[in-house]
Amino acid sequence: MPNIVVVGTQWGDEGKGKVVDVITPHVNVVVRYQGGNNAGHTVVVGREKYVLHSIPSGILHPHCRCVIGCGVVVDPASLIQEMEALVQRGVTLDGSLFISKNAHLIMPYHPALDRASEAKLGSRRIGTTGKGVGPAYVDKAARVGIRMADLLDERLFREKLEINLAQKNRILREIYDAQSFNIEEILNPYLRFAGWLAPYITDTALLLHRWIESGYSVLFEGAQATMLDIDHGTYPFVTSSNPVAGAACVGAGVGPRDIQEIWGVAKAYTTRVGAGPFPTELHDETGEEIRRRGGEFGTTTGRPRRTGWMDLVALKYAARLNTLSGLVVTKLDVFSGFDRIRVATRYRSQEEATFDRFPYHQSVLHHAVGEYDELPGWREDLADCRTPSDLPVNARDYLRFISEAVDVPITLIGVGPGREQVVWGDAVPEQFAPERQAA
Ligand code: GDP
Repeated sequence: MPNIVVVGTQWGDEGKGKVVDVITPHVNVVVRYQGGNNAGHTVVVGREKYVLHSIPSGILHPHCRCVIGCGVVVDPASLIQEMEALVQRGVTLDGSLFISKNAHLIMPYHPALDRASEAKLGSRRIGTTGKGVGPAYVDKAARVGIRMADLLDERLFREKLEINLAQKNRILREIYDAQSFNIEEILNPYLRFAGWLAPYITDTALLLHRWIESGYSVLFEGAQATMLDIDHGTYPFVTSSNPVAGAACVGAGVGPRDIQEIWGVAKAYTTRVGAGPFPTELHDETGEEIRRRGGEFGTTTGRPRRTGWMDLVALKYAARLNTLSGLVVTKLDVFSGFDRIRVATRYRSQEEATFDRFPYHQSVLHHAVGEYDELPGWREDLADCRTPSDLPVNARDYLRFISEAVDVPITLIGVGPGREQVVWGDAVPEQFAPERQAA
């Protein structure tokens, strides 16, 4: 059975949540492989609204096992809140949720350091969510991180906490002029969390190996997106982990040969939250129109997202880095009523040089602007389209233009927020699109 990675190809918010939700009925396991509770999905099932930050939304499908991989950093208080909300609504976690023993813990000093550091940076701040995800990865790399398995050994946990606090408290007090922590105020709640989480903490890499061997199909779900990857994204305006598909292996504990399909998700246009380069950004009425029609406002903050045209230079870069086997284009419906649609096929630098590859130097990228091809738009509403032939010719031509430019077949198209509002492309393995076969 094919195992599949779903990865964002832009700067996040591409609609991965819905794509994962559409594929989940056709797999046995969903794994989160990086990031922390700085990502998240709101999933509406019937009249119930579920807010999930660390647990894959697959948990709402009774057949599906969900794994929080070793590449994820976990805030246990926030995770338990999610778990309790699920249990209260009758969702079974026993036998469905598995947490890697090697996943690192977000400790109370991590959000404190995150916020203090952002405040100190002032106008040069990264724009983090302040949840401590970055500082938790810092500790992981510094080999002083505390992991899930440490929660199960009180003596070891206390010892690691003491070592960390001695250092963190000095940094908080002396560098940031911030409040320090007392060991008991962390130890007591964390030992309570340990009691809650113990039944779920396990060797998830071994479990995945066994499940894959026995023919289960696994979906690896990336948080954030390629252009926010700490190595390959627009550093330093990036996240603190690796969302790219290759990281699914590291963050879940499987090998590259365990993955057969890699689908990249792109909106029909581009958005970005927070600071950092954005070569196809629109600062005009059209950008406003895309923002309004696409509802491009932050889910928690309500902050308007930056908007712009589709960027094929960046998308080609993402297709190469992730070795995409399929491209998912979401929010195509947002363009209905646009007379002309522009697509950036190259960048122009401040010195008037043109690039059809993603520039590797930060200073070039920061001043690069898109050079565009213009395609005719369409008037028709796409909400009820379910097969490629239902789409207006110009919408199909737009998709073909993108697909040919990046040399990746389109597997799925989003034509509205509803989970049924999708069009399956032709290049989809049968397993993932039985609906299409039936049509
Ligand atoms: P993620 O952060 O990449 O997982 O993005 P989300 O799952 O939060 O999706 C962003 C928003 O876009 C959600 O409100 C979705 O309901 C909505 N959405 C997803 N796909 C489509 C689509 O094809 N058309 C429209 N109009 N909205 C969509």
